[in-house]
Parts: sequence; structure tokens; C-alpha cells
Amino acid sequence: MALLEINEVAAGYGEVQVLRQVTLQVRQGSLVSLIGANGAGKTTMARAASGLLKVTDGSVSFDGRDVTHLPAYRRAGLGLTMVPEGRELFAGMTVRENLEMGAVSKRAQARAADNLSRVLELFPVLQERTEQRAATMSGGEQQMLAIARGLMADPKLLIIDELSLGLAPKLVTQLLEVIRGLKREGQSILLTEQNVVKALKVSDYTYVMADGSIELEGPSEDIRGREEIRQAYLGM
Ligand code: ATP
Repeated sequence: MALLEINEVAAGYGEVQVLRQVTLQVRQGSLVSLIGANGAGKTTMARAASGLLKVTDGSVSFDGRDVTHLPAYRRAGLGLTMVPEGRELFAGMTVRENLEMGAVSKRAQARAADNLSRVLELFPVLQERTEQRAATMSGGEQQMLAIARGLMADPKLLIIDELSLGLAPKLVTQLLEVIRGLKREGQSILLTEQNVVKALKVSDYTYVMADGSIELEGPSEDIRGREEIRQAYLGM
């Protein structure tokens, strides 16, 4: 059984249905990307998986448990953590305070000291700025802080929504290197990305979303290597 299993999920906003019968899995220890154009439904999917958005049909299971009707904070307690699009940091708080806020569950609190050393080692720039307020950091530093805060939750699965949004290409490459490093350490990750080329390069398996449905899926390497798919779905 996969760590995260999204089964024929439908979800939307009020009368507007966005997701249609979405089925997706993240296996333990894998790095999976969900790619698609602007407005395809990636963020909606990430929110449905993490419990921030109610699903109207289908089911979500995590770590062997049906979590379809569990609110986000309960899913977080089970180890399902999302780094949201736009980061949503506590702007007036320092780097250290933001990181401390990430240790949401009892389990995470018990491991907070270890996890703090780990994330500061992973992102040395945060180590130099522990007392700086989040609002005064650059976009790239804020994204590092958002990922680090997510890791402070001691996640079994980290969902990162739009990692590259608004960041310079070089910085995106750097952050994806860190993500790959986390995966090598055994961290399971679901990455939603508009940056198709980079997402296909780093991930093990890819789902392509369009108009709220999964149009295509497969090992990232296969998808990357197929000219007709790249042209038809990815505009590459
Ligand atoms: P992006 O890369 O721009 O974030 P996305 O693939 O993540 O795109 P979503 O943000 O999930 O796409 O949006 C999917 C659809 O749902 C879009 O048509 C969008 O307009 C709509 N939508 C998103 N959020 C809301 C909302 N709060 N209320 C109503 N419609 C919404």
C-alpha cells in the first residue's frame, strides 16, 4: 500500500467542480511530481490531500488509514504536512519562531531540537539569520524557511505546492537539489510544479494534470524521453 492514496477524488469551490476523479499515489520514500499548466488544479489537489479542502467524492488514505474526513490539523498529526503556495510564513516573527511554530504535533515537539539542527544544516542561510524577521527575507530565503518549517513537523510525507513560484531559475535548481537530498535520506515528497522541465528531472514518478484530471502518468524518465508527450501535454 502506498503512503498516500488519492482515489477518484472530486473537489472544488462552491458550485465549481475543479477536480474530477483524480487518482494518485505516493509510495514510501519516493519523490512524485504533479505537473500542469496554470489553473490545472494542482493547488486544489494539494489542498484536498492535506485536508484544507473538503473532497466531495472519492477517498484519501494516508499511512494505511482513511483520512478522507479528517481535518488538516489531524492529518498533520499523522505526519502529512504541506508547504503551501505563497509560503504563508508568520511575517512578523523571526526565523527561529517560524521554525518553532512548525513543530505542530506532540511527535514533532519531542523531536524539535534534532529537527532544528537538521534544517539549519540543510539551509545554512537560515542558521545565519535565526533572529531575522521572516518579512525581511528574500523570496528564495522565505521559500527555504517555508520548507524548513514543514520539516519541523517531522513529516512522513511533505507536500510542497509550487516550489519554484516567483523564484529565479538558479535558486530553483538549488532548492531542487535540497529536495533531492531529502529524498535520498528517505523523505517521501509530493511536489506540485508549473516548471515541468525541472520537475521531470528531479522526480521518480510524474502525474500530468489538465482541467482537474490526470491526463497522463508514468516514471518521470519515460515521460521526459517521449517527444509526442512533451509536445502534446507539456509544450516542450
Ligand atoms: P497555479 O499553478 O496557478 O496555482 P493550479 O494548477 O494550482 O494553478 P488551482 O489553483 O488548483 O490550479 O486552480 C484550479 C481552478 O480552480 C482554477 O480554475 C481556479 O480559478 C479555481 N480556483 C482556485 N481557487 C479557487 C477559489 N478559492 N475559489 C474559486 N475557484 C478557485
